[in-house]
This record gives sequence, structure tokens and C-alpha cells, in this order.
Amino acid sequence: MAAARLRHRMGRLLERAPALGPWLRVYSTSPAFAEVLRLPQKQLTKVLYPLRELQQRLVADSGQGLIEQRLFDPSLEDIGRAESIFAATARSRIEYLSSAVRLDHAPSLQQPEVCFIGRSNVGKSSLIKALFALASDVEVRISKKPGHTKKMNFFKVGKHFTLVDMPGYGYRAPEDFVDMVEAYLKERNNLKRTFLLVDSAVGITKLDNIAIEMCEEFALPYVMVLTKIDKSSKGYLLKQVLQIQKFVNTQTQGCFPQLFPISAVTYSGVHLLKCFIAEITGSLK
Ligand code: GDP
Repeated sequence: MAAARLRHRMGRLLERAPALGPWLRVYSTSPAFAEVLRLPQKQLTKVLYPLRELQQRLVADSGQGLIEQRLFDPSLEDIGRAESIFAATARSRIEYLSSAVRLDHAPSLQQPEVCFIGRSNVGKSSLIKALFALASDVEVRISKKPGHTKKMNFFKVGKHFTLVDMPGYGYRAPEDFVDMVEAYLKERNNLKRTFLLVDSAVGITKLDNIAIEMCEEFALPYVMVLTKIDKSSKGYLLKQVLQIQKFVNTQTQGCFPQLFPISAVTYSGVHLLKCFIAEITGSLK
């Protein structure tokens, strides 16, 4: 689909979107990885590999085959190493760098970059808060007031990579909002991967589809992260995951075939996601 058409469709959806949300969000802390490792085996699997738990349920219910694409299946050691990359130390700081409303205001950086996109209310701030929870001195503030200029927020994770929080689509946003996201996705040279957030309780919405089409059109490598998995029953979540997995398998080219379900409340899936980010940015080497 042509970029102009995407922009037009996005603009119309934005006009209709509800204007909700608090003005500021401030992040807190998460359990240390050592504590997670002390969990009983079943709990540990649930926290580290949420899809594996669902798969067990699927097999028990129907004897049906695999839903989990274990393309990325790191060792506990690698998950632990990724944890330390996301934990600020005296030698490796995690810090807010800057915000930008236009790509030419974005910091010029050589290190690999990953970005997070998703419709507003999908749980993006909560996830970024969970990712940075071990770096308690990083206070991430995100403007959510409707009508206020949405910005791209850049965070430096030591010398390893930059994480960019893109403005959530769905609010009444400035007219150039889509241009900003589009220009960034198209032109940011050091962008290694785009993480597209989808609410697991809701499924893929029209707005999500526009973002998916954008990633597909620009032939970007992207990853689908399913948020808020603690909200649904296991049976419902399984149904949603199967549906979204089918969509990814049949309707996308650039999407990584393995889904990343997470909960910012229970931290389920968050460690695996951190490890994946560390891996694709070359930070585990
Ligand atoms: P954003 O607009 O995408 O940044 O979304 P937020 O992170 O602000 O989350 C929107 C709403 O969903 C808030 O009420 C959050 O508390 C809630 N939320 C976010 N993540 C989760 C989650 O993992 N589980 C549950 N149960 N609620 C969540």
C-alpha cells in the first residue's frame, strides 16, 4: 500500500480515536533475576517462557501441535547476561538521552537501535517501565496529554544500544505524527528492529494493521509483542495467540515468526524479551 494512503487512513482513524490517558507516568522497580531463579519450576517457566505454558495447555486440551516457534530459545545464562545489560551499573549507565519531534532532531548515533511502537493504551509505557525497572535511577516520563506534541524518546542502554519509545498512535495527534513515525522507520539507518505492540486481550486492531502495513511496506524486520497477558484466562489467551500466530504466518513477510507475550504486571515474558533485544543488538557477544 502506498505511504500516502496509509497516512490518509491513519489520519482518519486518529480523528476518531478517544482522547484518554494521564499526563505523566513514572516507573518503579521489578524483582531481581536471582529472585526469579528461585521460583519453583512451574512458576519459573511461566515467568520466563509464557508461550511454553500455553503450549502445554493446548496439548492437554486438544493434542494439537506446536504453537511455540522456539527460534529464539536462549540459555538461562544468556537471559541472566541480558538482565545485567538492562541493570544500570557504575560502568554502564542507562539514561534518557533526548526527545525529538522530527527525525532530523533525533540524536545522531552509531550504536544499534530498537524502537517500540503501538497504539495508545496498548501498554507501551508499562512495558518500557518493566524493561528499565532494574535501572531505578532512570525516570522515564512520557507525555500523554491529548493534544500535546508527541515525541520520540531516546534512551541509551550503556554502550550497547539505544531504545526509542515512539509516540503511541491513536490520540488526537499533531498532523505530522504519521510523518514522524514513517520518516523514522524508513530512514533511521541504525534501526535494527521494530517492536510492534499488540494488546493480547484485544487482538490486532485496525490501527495495529496500519502499523503492520507500514513495517511491511518498508520491508522492516519487526517483532510482535503481545501485551497484558495477565488480563485474560489461559483459554482465551491461547485462542488469541493462535489467531495472531496464524496472521503472522500467513499475512506477513517481515515479522519474526515467534511472538513475544508479556505482562508488565507479573513480568512474565519480560526477561525473554530483554534477552532477545540484547541478542539482536549484538550486546550478548
Ligand atoms: P500506553 O498508552 O501504550 O503507554 O499504555 P500504558 O502502559 O499506559 O497502559 C495502558 C493501561 O493498561 C494502563 O491502565 C495500564 O495499567 C494497563 N496495563 C499496561 N500493561 C499491562 C499489563 O501487562 N497487564 C495489565 N493487567 N494491565 C496493563
